[in-house]
Order: sequence, then C-alpha cells, then structure tokens
Amino acid sequence: MNGCLFCDIVARKLPAEVIKDDGVVVAIRDVNPQAPTHVLLMPYEHITSAAELTPAQDALWARLLHIAQEVAIDDGIVTSGYRLVTNVGRDGGQTVAHLHLHLLGGRRMRWPPG
Ligand code: 5GP
Ligand code: ZN
Repeated sequence: MNGCLFCDIVARKLPAEVIKDDGVVVAIRDVNPQAPTHVLLMPYEHITSAAELTPAQDALWARLLHIAQEVAIDDGIVTSGYRLVTNVGRDGGQTVAHLHLHLLGGRRMRWPPG
C-alpha cells in the first residue's frame, strides 16, 4: 500500500534489519527495541491490523506464529520465554497501521502491560 512504512520495508524500499523472509512473512528487528530481543513479524500483504483479519487469512496468522517460534529458537529465548503482542488501533497503542506481531524476550516481562 502506498505510504505504508511496513509495505515499504517488506518491499525493501526502506532499510531494515531483516532476519527472516519466507516470501509471505518478514521478520525485522525493531528500530527502538524494548527488550534484548524485539522483533516485528509482518505479512507482505497489507492488512491494517488483527481487527481486519478474515478466516481466509487463518493460515497467514498461523505462519506469523510459527516464524515467531523460529526467531525465538534462533535468539535462544524459547525456553526462558517471551511475549507476543499485536497492538490494535488507538487504544491498543498501534502506531503503524500494517499488521505486525511484536516478539519480546530476553528479560522478564511485567503484567499488566501499560
Ligand atoms: P506498534 O506501535 O504499531 O504496535 O509498533 C510499531 C513498531 O514499529 C514500534 O515498536 C516501532 O519502534 C517500530 N518501528 C517504527 N518505525 C520503524 C522502522 O522504520 N524500522 C523498524 N525496524 N521499526 C520501526
Ligand atoms: Zn502496509
């Protein structure tokens, strides 16, 4: 989508530290990490948020989860644990309107989140 930051990143029109790309999902390191591991997992397809997912995208959502698992293994946090978050809309704190999962780990997470 024109003017979408993450569409531009998956299309390599903007630079990012890409750590995985299976042609469907891209994983990049967050530019402003909130934990030792802070990775963003996003589909190539422009979907505004989890609120826009349809049943036709069930496999895509599962793919995001599996890529997150692979990154957690690669970063050595699969045993210590990690958090997966997807912010939705204004009250969810979403700042980039292209569906993405945050994978956070390498430190103890707090609950409830802010
Ligand atoms: P949201 O607030 O939408 O849930 O998450 C957006 C995330 O994208 C934030 O954690 C922010 O640090 C990250 N981000 C924003 N711009 C860029 C960028 O240009 N490159 C990368 N790698 N991350 C970005
Ligand atoms: Zn987009």
